[in-house]
Amino acid sequence: MSPAGYSDPALFGYETDAPLRRSAQICVHTSPLATLGGKDAGGMNVYVRELACHLARLGLPTDVFTRRTSPDTPEVTPLCPGVSVVAVAAGPPEPVDKNDLFPLLPEFAANMVRYALREGVRYDIVHAHYWLSGWAAHLARSSKASWSAPFVQMFHTTAHMKNAVAGAADREPALRLDTERLLPNLADGLISANPDERDDLVLRFGTPAAKVCTVPPGVDLELFHPRDRGAARATLGLPGDEPLVLFVGRVDPIKGIDTLLDAVPLLARNDDLPRKPTVLFVGGDLDAAGEPTGPLASVAERATARGVTDRFRFVGSQPQERLPLFYAAADVVAVPSRYESFGLVAVEAMACGIPVVASRVGGLLFTVEDGASGLLVPPQDPAALAEGLALVLVDDICRRRLAAGALRSAERFAWPGVAAAIHRVYGRLAAGQRAELCGDEEIYG
Ligand code: UDP
Repeated sequence: MSPAGYSDPALFGYETDAPLRRSAQICVHTSPLATLGGKDAGGMNVYVRELACHLARLGLPTDVFTRRTSPDTPEVTPLCPGVSVVAVAAGPPEPVDKNDLFPLLPEFAANMVRYALREGVRYDIVHAHYWLSGWAAHLARSSKASWSAPFVQMFHTTAHMKNAVAGAADREPALRLDTERLLPNLADGLISANPDERDDLVLRFGTPAAKVCTVPPGVDLELFHPRDRGAARATLGLPGDEPLVLFVGRVDPIKGIDTLLDAVPLLARNDDLPRKPTVLFVGGDLDAAGEPTGPLASVAERATARGVTDRFRFVGSQPQERLPLFYAAADVVAVPSRYESFGLVAVEAMACGIPVVASRVGGLLFTVEDGASGLLVPPQDPAALAEGLALVLVDDICRRRLAAGALRSAERFAWPGVAAAIHRVYGRLAAGQRAELCGDEEIYG
């Protein structure tokens, strides 16, 4: 199947002055079509999917390149009108750990370039997600039949940020650290998801400030909006009167699940709470019998070791269309992450009018206004997390006030505005502007 057609008037777009005719998004290690909530599929997948589809709505057809992980995947899969996901052969057509993908990038880049040649498509802007894709974009520019379009890099997280909060076993390899140091020079521009990330790129990597634009990810307000709590609980088969803390996320140490596990016994012992709260845990895998398996099994074991197994309800990962039900059913959403570049779950919950108690880290510092649209607590501090959750659960007035603030606050991140901001950044790059990448894109504040 051929890629989605260009909008009029010209086939290649180079017959007109319009500098932006088609974009390429590179997402080597994970696909926007992947099931969310597993180890490596979460916010970035959602981001790439939503960005691509909103760019297409703005008149910018987009191809998303990802590594082929199954021989059965068609080369081109339509994602939404104007957007195709292109499965690129690189290494075996099976899942490969992302730490082993770097040596496959030359093949990936060569096949990506070949695809474009074969299909007769050219790109005016290339947007690379994560460090592996940045390197693939760089290689695509260095190849014989090279791409000449400007490329914009988005790290989503950097190894430096991740290592700052990772345990010894989860540290990122030197190769990633080194490559991330090179990419700001190789890219024509960088998009940071929050102002701290921009400062990090500028101060630590020495990236010229004019090359970096902060544009946060968006949230789908058509999907995430307030719904009736009772009806949501009835649909999910949950009791109507149980205090409910919701966790949604990948089962990854960075999500601070250990902090949540340690906070739950404290919550269960809190005398201010007339009923012990339950944690509804969305993410990870269940086996055929509905029991946690893989990394989620270890979360369940740790809950058992703490004597709070009855306080957890593991429902596995859920299709995103179902998540509004889970948010609506909750009294509060816990986001205990050690680090978040943005933290989509927090903003989705806020858009549903549910207060969040989140770690004071990364993007959450800018999306959650402490005391106005949620509560921020120190990361890796179970007592502080338990206290924050208890406050929201006990104090009805506080909960309502935060819920109203959350709703207002989430509106800033509506996708149409976010995509338009990215489109303007692309436009400047495609027009050859390098002096100042960012205009009035600032959405925080
Ligand atoms: N998500 C989902 N189903 C799940 C778990 C997560 O659809 O079972 C989605 C969730 O709606 C959110 C994303 O995955 O959009 C997670 O993004 P976030 O930024 O919170 O975390 P990340 O995965 O980027 O670390």
